[in-house]
Amino acid sequence: MTALPRPVRNPIADLDTAIALRRRRDIRQLLQVARADVVSAYERYEDMLRDIANFDSVAANQTELTQALLGNVPLMDSKRPLGSLRAAVLDAAEHGQFRCPLCERAQVCALDHFLPKEQYPEFSIFVDNLIPVCERCNRLKGAECDRQNGLLLFHAYFDDLPSEQVLVATVRTDNVVTITFELQRPSDFSEAAFAKIEKHFTVLQLLEFYRKEAIAEVADSTDSYIQAAQRSGVAGIQQMIGDQLAGTAWRGTNHWKNVLYRGLLDSANFCEGGYLSLLPPSLRNRTAEITTGRQTAYSGCS
Ligand SMILES: [Zn+2]
Repeated sequence: MTALPRPVRNPIADLDTAIALRRRRDIRQLLQVARADVVSAYERYEDMLRDIANFDSVAANQTELTQALLGNVPLMDSKRPLGSLRAAVLDAAEHGQFRCPLCERAQVCALDHFLPKEQYPEFSIFVDNLIPVCERCNRLKGAECDRQNGLLLFHAYFDDLPSEQVLVATVRTDNVVTITFELQRPSDFSEAAFAKIEKHFTVLQLLEFYRKEAIAEVADSTDSYIQAAQRSGVAGIQQMIGDQLAGTAWRGTNHWKNVLYRGLLDSANFCEGGYLSLLPPSLRNRTAEITTGRQTAYSGCS
């Protein structure tokens, strides 16, 4: 995961727009009184991300203020006065080709409040707290905010996954191709830093998500593997996967596709014909004969 560029936006202007547009005079006054506190909360937002256990909301135990701040959220709906704020956040996803920055796979379609708006309503329309995400991640993350342990997920604008490899894929080929993803802590990695990664992957159920995505990805490439094998045998397949790896290297060491391609290259069985298990059984034997010229080639049975 590499950090998304933050949307260019004036958050204080957005706040003032929201306050001015609230219809009820008592709500406007309540928000006007709280404005200075909200602005100073904006200024310490990054400090809060680093030490969430020690920061209360400026609206803690104030039900009316909480409701007033939450009432600003609908102003971001399309065609409402802060619709341009929503659009600016969704446009930030363009830098990830509109892939969700949390799972790096699905399409962006929603705004997530990184610090949940119910717990920190002062950030309900704060641009740095609004993350473009997919429907699945939005649902799984929900109001996740582990204040007790100070463990937050990765923040799309402020956090990068490490450059060391922590995500590993293992590929096995028996009657079927199985791909498993797991997290491994590098020896020079602190337990606290690794716990944050584990939290991110657990809450978003990413190991299982990547397992399914990886199988689909590899199955879609079966024809290409067969053609590469027909041209240049095992070396052709290794070359093809190596090219795929080079093509996605820019996404970072721990991007699931890079991890998958390294796992495939590490699996001699896969490159030597195990990929044929991706085909329906009726096609396996015939294809194996064509690609290897041998009757004894991989038959789909171990
Ligand atoms: Zn996602």
